[in-house]
Amino acid sequence: MRTSTIAIAGFAALALGLSACGSSDDSAAGSESPSAGAATMVATTTVWGSVAGQIAECAGGSVTTLMPVGADPHDFTPSSDQVATMVDADLVIANGLGLEEGLESAMESAQQDGAVVFEVAPLLDPMPFEAEGEVHAEGEEHAEGEEHAEGEEAHSHGEDPHVWLDVTRAADAAELIGAEMAKVTGDAAYETCGTEVGQELRSTNDAVVETLAAVPTDKRILVTDHDAFGYFAEAYDFRIEGVVIPGGSTLAEPSSAELASLAQAIQDSGVKTIFANTANPSALVDALAAEVGDVQVVELYVGSVGEPGSEAATYQGMMTTNATRISDALSG
Ligand SMILES: [Zn+2]
Repeated sequence: MRTSTIAIAGFAALALGLSACGSSDDSAAGSESPSAGAATMVATTTVWGSVAGQIAECAGGSVTTLMPVGADPHDFTPSSDQVATMVDADLVIANGLGLEEGLESAMESAQQDGAVVFEVAPLLDPMPFEAEGEVHAEGEEHAEGEEHAEGEEAHSHGEDPHVWLDVTRAADAAELIGAEMAKVTGDAAYETCGTEVGQELRSTNDAVVETLAAVPTDKRILVTDHDAFGYFAEAYDFRIEGVVIPGGSTLAEPSSAELASLAQAIQDSGVKTIFANTANPSALVDALAAEVGDVQVVELYVGSVGEPGSEAATYQGMMTTNATRISDALSG
């Protein structure tokens, strides 16, 4: 039922687009095919909720974001109402590559119920985790239950899901999301708006590059709470000295030997800042900082945008705030 209605709506919008030739075809599509306007779209993380929400707002629609601000996407589990929201959605915009571990079964149900689950990360030239072999050897326990049960399908455990920390990839994602929204709603305005938001994100990327230019080459070293900055490091020319939580997720725990060797590496490299994660306040970061001594802990927006009204409330604000904090910490 639902798919055929959408197909008709899409066809109608396409026909309108061809004849009306770019005039106000979104309002026309809205009035003549109510099902197009009624398409429900859901984003999993606050990052994609921000990007998709801006596209929807530009096109006169809306997106529901499942995770609250400050949630850690690795360990967020939905309420039964949220599962229902996903299952009833026409389009679920997800990160994928195993990021949303607690949402996987809900996403599968949604898909079985006819929703389009659109995972962006696999489309953004994903990279393997840097120290993959090592990470697997040390992170064995966290993988056991769920990963083995579901291991054969969909995500590859070896690819890094944190694509959004490269703003250029997020700009590409905006274009892909807009095109997918246009397909699902039958309203071409979403595609135009996806391109617009994508262009804005390319400007955000320029701003991030400019801010980070203040960091001297020999200070471009990151120590972070977990292994989330591979794309960031590649895009903005940083090196990752170490991560506190092994395994590419926030769900594992380092051994005391791992913490001690990281503390030693930090002392040896002369690193003076450890970057924490607003979405995963971890006592381990503070413990590490105390063990190293003479280092500051600076919070970054890693898994979530900031609170509404804060400078990091949007994806753009999140990334420019991160750039400023990294620049201030490492160039001072
Ligand atoms: Zn992460």
